[in-house]
Amino acid sequence: MSDLPVAYQKLRARGRELALLGATGGLLGWDQETLLPPKSHGFRAEQSAQVAGIAHRLATAPEVGDWLSTCEAAQPSPESPEAACLTRWRHDYDRATKIPSDLVEENERASGLARSVWVEARKKSDFSSFAPHLEKLLFLARRMADLWGHSGQPYDALLEGYEPGWKTAEVTALFTKLQPRLVAIAEKAFAIPAHPSRKNLSGHYSRLDQEQFLQNLLPKIGFDTAAGRLDTSTHPFCSGLGPHDTRMTTRYDETDFMVSLYGVLHEAGHGLYDQGLPEKELGTPLGQAASLGIHESQSRLWENRVGRSHSFWRAWWSDLARAFPDLNGHSWEHCWRAANAVERSFIRVEADEVTYDLHILLRFQLETRLISGDLKVRDLPAAWNELFQKLLGLKVPDDSRGCLQDIHWSLGGFGYFPTYTLGNLTGSQLWQAAHRNLPNLQASLDRRDYHPLLQWLRQNIHAHGRRYLAGDLIQRATGKPLDPEAHLSILEEKVKDLSS
Ligand code: ZN
Repeated sequence: MSDLPVAYQKLRARGRELALLGATGGLLGWDQETLLPPKSHGFRAEQSAQVAGIAHRLATAPEVGDWLSTCEAAQPSPESPEAACLTRWRHDYDRATKIPSDLVEENERASGLARSVWVEARKKSDFSSFAPHLEKLLFLARRMADLWGHSGQPYDALLEGYEPGWKTAEVTALFTKLQPRLVAIAEKAFAIPAHPSRKNLSGHYSRLDQEQFLQNLLPKIGFDTAAGRLDTSTHPFCSGLGPHDTRMTTRYDETDFMVSLYGVLHEAGHGLYDQGLPEKELGTPLGQAASLGIHESQSRLWENRVGRSHSFWRAWWSDLARAFPDLNGHSWEHCWRAANAVERSFIRVEADEVTYDLHILLRFQLETRLISGDLKVRDLPAAWNELFQKLLGLKVPDDSRGCLQDIHWSLGGFGYFPTYTLGNLTGSQLWQAAHRNLPNLQASLDRRDYHPLLQWLRQNIHAHGRRYLAGDLIQRATGKPLDPEAHLSILEEKVKDLSS
């Protein structure tokens, strides 16, 4: 036991160095997306690679392995926060060191090349030019999965990189339960006569008016604007650089103010999580987010459960009508309907809340089969189109609007997609649990008091950092394992409301 404090303090100090370097890299990335002059991209790429290289060397240095072994031999109490930190540090160290550097480099080269081929292939809807690159990335992903280790299911090892603790079979079981009822909900929603749409709200919503409205909204939902910023980028994101520095971006469409409204509520959900991570744990797993799915549960909760509710539209209507004169002649209820419109569409990132997860179920089924070898790359477009027709009832016209639409596979990101749906299911289950635990929650939301909700999320999710695996964290916060029931019942209720 005597070695634990010294080696443990070294791990903590190394973690802090890595957090500082990570924040520096994150800041370079934020700047690249928001402000960087066009000619500076080459130099920026070199800067970013330099910082990432230093971080990688520090994270994978042999002394880290020695410190870990020393601490593990001292056997801290399994329930202690130190034991949780050691488990997560070991997980990260093993994943980073089990892959030889020539394979890491080969994978980076292959995905760099695949990405540029994919950009062109998507433009021309030319799957055949991308196919050999996808083949290569799948081959490399399987090799890395074998080195990371798995029990017969290589996809498990890939999923572990994004959603530690989840197994392919568990996700499959959840999604199998979700699919038929989600398809039925979507069918019901498509059949609503006089379907409301955001296009009916046509008008001019100036960017300045949108910015002012959002700057007023952010502190009201609890986002600390003195410890974070909202800027503009083509692809919105949120980057939690560290304590008191959370960078969010959005984009503006002057014909549709809901693009920035829902974009910002989504990113602010990520941002509130980042702002709620324990500051004194910077550099240890207790100061990090639990998983991508848990992160996404926060963004979807604020975007969809809060922002798309009756309560939100009623409570904010007079502010919205004041901010956007072109809303005159519309009612809050009409806007609420438009914000919740359900439509068949080809593109995942443009999908509404009901159909979104159908897009994910499709990708999960196909990528698990691609990794297992059960689906051949050349058969991907046909398999995509067939499943798309089955789930969304649309005939895919070309691969640009089909299997070439997402960037993930071109980067070798197999195992990422399910985190979106895990996030949606988790967000709804947390929402129901918060209402159970706080009987006055609805009344406070109705008067635009978001403090009780945020406090509940802070205590039950944010404060724990990465101490528990996502599944255990959900169990602790909601009293049960993750299940699609909460999400499905919320969507069923919503479609019923939209039908009336
Ligand atoms: Zn997100």
